[in-house]
Amino acid sequence: MIISVTDPFYLTVAYILCGLLGLCVGSFLNVVIYRVPLGMSVARPASHCPVCSAKIRLYDNIPIVSYILLGGKCRSCKCRIPFRYTAVEALNCALWLLCVLVYHTNLIFMIISCAVCSVCICVFFIDLEHMIIPDRFQVILGVLAVTSVFFDTEYDWLSHLIGLAAALVVFIAVGYAVSRYKKRESLGGGDIKFAACAGLLLGWQRFILMMLIASVSASVVLLIKSKRSKDETSKEYPFGPFLATGAVLALLFGHYVIEWYIKLLVG
Ligand SMILES: [Zn+2]
Repeated sequence: MIISVTDPFYLTVAYILCGLLGLCVGSFLNVVIYRVPLGMSVARPASHCPVCSAKIRLYDNIPIVSYILLGGKCRSCKCRIPFRYTAVEALNCALWLLCVLVYHTNLIFMIISCAVCSVCICVFFIDLEHMIIPDRFQVILGVLAVTSVFFDTEYDWLSHLIGLAAALVVFIAVGYAVSRYKKRESLGGGDIKFAACAGLLLGWQRFILMMLIASVSASVVLLIKSKRSKDETSKEYPFGPFLATGAVLALLFGHYVIEWYIKLLVG
């Protein structure tokens, strides 16, 4: 069943609701990004300053607004609050608004997309800092991927299944080839699981685009990094942030790009 929000009034309500909710969920994502890799509970204890342990009051916990009012400093110890916290809130809000813009004609897929964007933000920052993609994110993404098969109006179920198969074949083959060639593990198990979930979620057409974005952006970033520091050739970099970026961009804009490309080919 496809529920479409086209009435201007309800569409405005959807934008306002998703914008505000996106900010609040973004604030919660900061807690998830900080605590999950450390094995801490996301519910307890309540938010506190990591430097002076002062409890953060409700009025100091308003997304973006509090950061500006407090001048980016903790109220009690005046230590700097990392800008990343505000960036994550703003990013989650912006992506949720884009989900409304692109998928308001398919309400359930719109909600799935919002959740996928939030999971990808967590994967991006956690893998960047800790070089792991915790399994709980894979499970959430897997459930969202299975649900998306039933509600996607752009691509049918077969496209989603081929996406899953393609992701598994490509990642296991490349992982095997590189590990034999370089005699070390190249793609982590987390990357393979993430790619499999993304393949099922996106369908093979958008999955190809995701892999293009991920590999090109990874190559550019690694090239710049290796030029800056010449002695770090053996240093490992996480691939998760690039996969997450590719997945979000392919999910939001994939079908536009693919349509444009097909028109270009057909002429
Ligand atoms: Zn403090």
